[in-house]
Amino acid sequence: MNKCFVFAFLLWTTIILGQPKNDVLSDEEILKGIYTTALVKNQGYKWLEELTEMGPRLTGSENATKAVYHFQKIADSLGFKTFLQPVTVPQWVRGEAEEANYKTTSGKIVLNSCALGGSIATPEKGLKAPLFEITSFEQLDSLTTELEGKIAFYNIPMNPAFINTFFAYSNSAKQRYVGALEASKKGAVGVVIRSLSATVNDLPHTGSMTYKGADTKIPAMAISTLDAEKLSTNLKDNPSLEFFMKMNCESKDSVISYNLVAEIEGAQNSEEVIVLGGHTDSWDLGTGAHDDGAGCVHSLEAIWLLKQLDILPKRTVRVVFFMNEEFGLDGAKVYAKESKKENINHVIAIESDAGGFSPRGISVVAPDSLVARVREFRSLFEPYGLHQFTETGSGADISQLYSKDLVMLGLRPDNHRYFDIHHSAADVIESVSPRELEMGSATIAAFIYLLDKYDISAK
Ligand SMILES: [Zn+2]
Repeated sequence: MNKCFVFAFLLWTTIILGQPKNDVLSDEEILKGIYTTALVKNQGYKWLEELTEMGPRLTGSENATKAVYHFQKIADSLGFKTFLQPVTVPQWVRGEAEEANYKTTSGKIVLNSCALGGSIATPEKGLKAPLFEITSFEQLDSLTTELEGKIAFYNIPMNPAFINTFFAYSNSAKQRYVGALEASKKGAVGVVIRSLSATVNDLPHTGSMTYKGADTKIPAMAISTLDAEKLSTNLKDNPSLEFFMKMNCESKDSVISYNLVAEIEGAQNSEEVIVLGGHTDSWDLGTGAHDDGAGCVHSLEAIWLLKQLDILPKRTVRVVFFMNEEFGLDGAKVYAKESKKENINHVIAIESDAGGFSPRGISVVAPDSLVARVREFRSLFEPYGLHQFTETGSGADISQLYSKDLVMLGLRPDNHRYFDIHHSAADVIESVSPRELEMGSATIAAFIYLLDKYDISAK
């Protein structure tokens, strides 16, 4: 054993045993205790395993609400005060496996496909029509009658030149979200989109879409990026090839589900609230291990870690498990409305909804002077591989709480692999590294500790 290891071990056991007291430990020592406890105990990963064993948590499904009760049970056992907030959520069901195929001179090509969330079904026997390929949004705008009677094939890749894959995602997500709406205005009868994936692979990726403002609703599906490339090539060889798609998904009546709020009262300034969270719902193709099981677990474990080290924040801490981020942020809207009604004084909001990969930094939305203060913590995080202190948004759920005097933070994990699995069948526990997940929980715990200790607030 080298000396550093012995020192770290002694320090860790000292912190765990509570001697010396936290108030005489340096910030470096406290952070070391937080990260060590996370990596040694693996509590968050254990919670994520239990969660994903329950299956997918599609909004409006029984499983999604079961997951809320599951988290409530854990939070209760940890001594949180918990309560549920009813949220009316849409209920969309996928039905039987989708079909998509076309014929070439060398035979029938079967594609890996999935309906987009919220899409209508095709006619019972399926839909067959020629395709029109769209490779840019500018091209879409310039079309006049080209889509009439055809299936619009959106083939707009995520731009690989972006270092941050979230930028590439938001730049091409329009084909999924409003692809059907725009194509229907130009006479298309169906839509097939290239999956929003950062690499070429054979997985179809689902995600939400809207018909808002459409006179006619047309069915929309995603195909894998690999199939989109093949289809594009085959279409060049045979522009009149006919595409077959079959889906029997369906929107049902809305149902009631819940946000879960788990609270620990602050030791001194209990009327000031630090809120943190992720969303309980997931897509149905995988089990939402990264999106956003990881974010829920990060949030719960962050507070668990502080409790393990006898660190009780001065401010009240609320962990919120938001319901229905994926189909329109319903839970986030309810939480924001209820908080306003009850005059909850949020001073800090933190979200983790970018996956459970190794944390690289944090993004801050706050007045400049406070962004500068958060950046002063940077050297404390360097030993843990975090160096990106950006100002690139915070998170979709907490964005509903936005006000100029709220300090908002979003965890920024490494994002290169995130869109390989996002909204696909690969978003399962096997794609989460226990160590990387734990580093995320520890990072959030460390930020809460520092922001609370140094009274970071815009009020
Ligand atoms: Zn998410």
